[in-house]
Amino acid sequence: MNLIFLGPPGAGKGTQAKVISGEFGYTYMGTGDLLRSLVSKGDPLALKAKEFMDKGELVPDALMVEIVSEQLVNLKKGFILDGFPRTLEQAQILEEMLKGIGVKIDHVIYFDLSDREAEKRLSNRYQCKDCGNIYNSNLGQCPKCGGALFRRKDDEPETIRKRLEVYHRQTAPLLDFYEKKGILRRVEAQGTVEEISKRIRSILGHGEN
Ligand code: AMP
Repeated sequence: MNLIFLGPPGAGKGTQAKVISGEFGYTYMGTGDLLRSLVSKGDPLALKAKEFMDKGELVPDALMVEIVSEQLVNLKKGFILDGFPRTLEQAQILEEMLKGIGVKIDHVIYFDLSDREAEKRLSNRYQCKDCGNIYNSNLGQCPKCGGALFRRKDDEPETIRKRLEVYHRQTAPLLDFYEKKGILRRVEAQGTVEEISKRIRSILGHGEN
């Protein structure tokens, strides 16, 4: 199956995308992770994108598409897109690209979470610099691999509010876009990682019952 994970920052899309892709052998493509990794390698386009990321704004569509188009056209069937598309223009570009390679999106999983809860989660979010795992308190060291934990620069209170505002203005219109196509599936994003994975599995037809 080919999936898009959509929802506000802090809703757990990245965490679930990694769980589900690991379980079902899907290719994971997270544009936030991809951008951060390119920034750390000093990629010139990603460094331009970083100016927007640090302010909590979206990277402009033209620049974003320039950065991800190669990965998109080379996507093997059976993928999860996390964090792309984030604007209607990106959704339209994605549709055209996928049409060109004969691939269709089966489900768009919408992670439904209140702003209040998203804000709370983001302000307590720590990530491992080595394995990328995410924790909701500062444990000092990553329990999984021992790497150091850090707070993302865009998880500062002002930037969090900006990202949520940007989400409502630029990304939320995609819900209607995919609803009209009949592929939007809403998931209650409040709960434990395992509870939410279970809800997603059941949408994918892998429920327990
Ligand atoms: P994320 O890790 O998904 O929260 O993404 C971190 C930041 O990367 C976002 O706040 C944006 O600045 C940028 N970004 C990631 N994906 C996109 C996208 N599809 N379009 C524009 N900007 C993006």
